[in-house]
Amino acid sequence: MRSIRAAVIGAGPAGIYAADILTKEYAAAEVDIIERLPAPYGLVRYGVAPDHPRIKEIIKALGRVLANPRIRFLGNVDYGTDLKLADLQHYYDAVIVATGAVADRPLEIPGIDLPGSHGAADFVSWYAGHPDVPRDWPLEAESVAVIGAGNVGLDVARMLAKPVEEQLTTEIADNVRRGLAANRAKDVHVFARRGPAQVKFSPMELRELSHSPSVDVLVEEDGFQVDEASQSTISSNKGVRLVVDTLLKYLEATPTEAPHRIHIHLCHAPIELLGDGRVEAIRTERTRLDGTGNAVGTGEYVVTPVQAVYRAVGYLSTHLPDLPFDHAAGVVPNEAGRVLDLDGVAVPGVYATGWIKRGPVGLIGHTKSDAAETIRSLLDDLDGIPAPEHPSRDGIIDHLVSRGVDVVTYEDWLRLDAHELGLGEAEGRERIKVVPRGEMLRAARG
Ligand SMILES: Cc1cc2nc3c(=O)[nH]c(=O)nc-3n(C[C@H](O)[C@H](O)[C@H](O)COP(=O)(O)OP(=O)(O)OC[C@H]3O[C@@H](n4cnc5c(N)ncnc54)[C@H](O)[C@@H]3O)c2cc1C
Repeated sequence: MRSIRAAVIGAGPAGIYAADILTKEYAAAEVDIIERLPAPYGLVRYGVAPDHPRIKEIIKALGRVLANPRIRFLGNVDYGTDLKLADLQHYYDAVIVATGAVADRPLEIPGIDLPGSHGAADFVSWYAGHPDVPRDWPLEAESVAVIGAGNVGLDVARMLAKPVEEQLTTEIADNVRRGLAANRAKDVHVFARRGPAQVKFSPMELRELSHSPSVDVLVEEDGFQVDEASQSTISSNKGVRLVVDTLLKYLEATPTEAPHRIHIHLCHAPIELLGDGRVEAIRTERTRLDGTGNAVGTGEYVVTPVQAVYRAVGYLSTHLPDLPFDHAAGVVPNEAGRVLDLDGVAVPGVYATGWIKRGPVGLIGHTKSDAAETIRSLLDDLDGIPAPEHPSRDGIIDHLVSRGVDVVTYEDWLRLDAHELGLGEAEGRERIKVVPRGEMLRAARG
């Protein structure tokens, strides 16, 4: 049996599942997971909201994969600066790109660049304690707009509306706790372009909005349009039915006079942000469903005074050096995980999985089936993949050390993990995340 060494770029769920499946399906496979951050788990650590500890439990299963002696975690190593594709091809039979997405998709409406207008991904990175973003976040706005009808929009709305006291037991970092304590938001307006049967909220996230006793969830009646096409989606799709029922429940509920409110405005398209030097309002156009699941403008405009706007219109993957990129779709072009060059020809031994393979949609569980497909392609191609020049296990480490890269191993990560848990325990909290990269590295070294 030919032995194979694979490099996975990115220690998010997609990369970790790929390493797991490859080592389980092929006894002579070894995998190194190269990760730019000193901590693994990608958006499970730096995206999933801190008040979703049940979802973060998946980290335990991912950690068991990293503990496999045939899998190595090489953290604090950036593909593109510390390593190039040719370096990886020198040491590994196969390279699997699993770099996910971290940036915001742009929204091109007038005023979007005004101070006070933010990308949801930037805010998420801040409250999740990502080491590469600024430590402070402006939270003086009392009235805030969130543009977008997906789960990230709901996360942002909930994080802004819910008082910090309800977040205290979570893993939030100290700078985030202080920032949220100064948050003045009272009214959070979520704008969705289409109707209740077209929003992309998941039923559980939507229901959870009302779990805080300090937040009233209000649905504006005017936008609650259900046409024939919506009716047929509602009857055929249980998830949609649950979402529509929950929105209806919010619409019919009597407000409790809670100090914070989340207003859901359906059938409102964002038109522009208004303000003299900074955001002062958002102008939206009421829409009506056109019978096909889409919405068209009605010519009726509404101005809502807000002092901050968050666009939650999707994440965007980044173009990686030496690899092809489809800018329109925001993915590495591929067929069943085989990376394709600009002529559509498979690049031997190079694969993709997760959000960089299929675009930034879908839950953690979907990255497992992604990884299974990609590994199947890799194993089917095995005979045609050229052997690397330098297949030794230590070659890559020597290479990184010679370039002065301070590699964080899985054992180092376990020390950082224990340090964060210890900080949390001392204050009766789940964990306290360490944010600055230097401090993460110090804790990792014990
Ligand atoms: C705000 C938010 C909340 C979410 N909440 C949920 C939820 O509650 N439940 C759920 O099931 N799903 C949730 N998801 C979706 C889930 O996070 C994704 O499905 C999943 O993380 C995608 O996995 P991935 O491995 O493809 O990418 P990622 O998780 O993004 O992992 C990619 C990894 O690659 C690393 N990387 C990037 N570039 C480089 C480079 N150049 N060199 C080395 N490493 C690199 C990154 O640092 C990162 O660790 C949420 C997503 C977001 C954005």
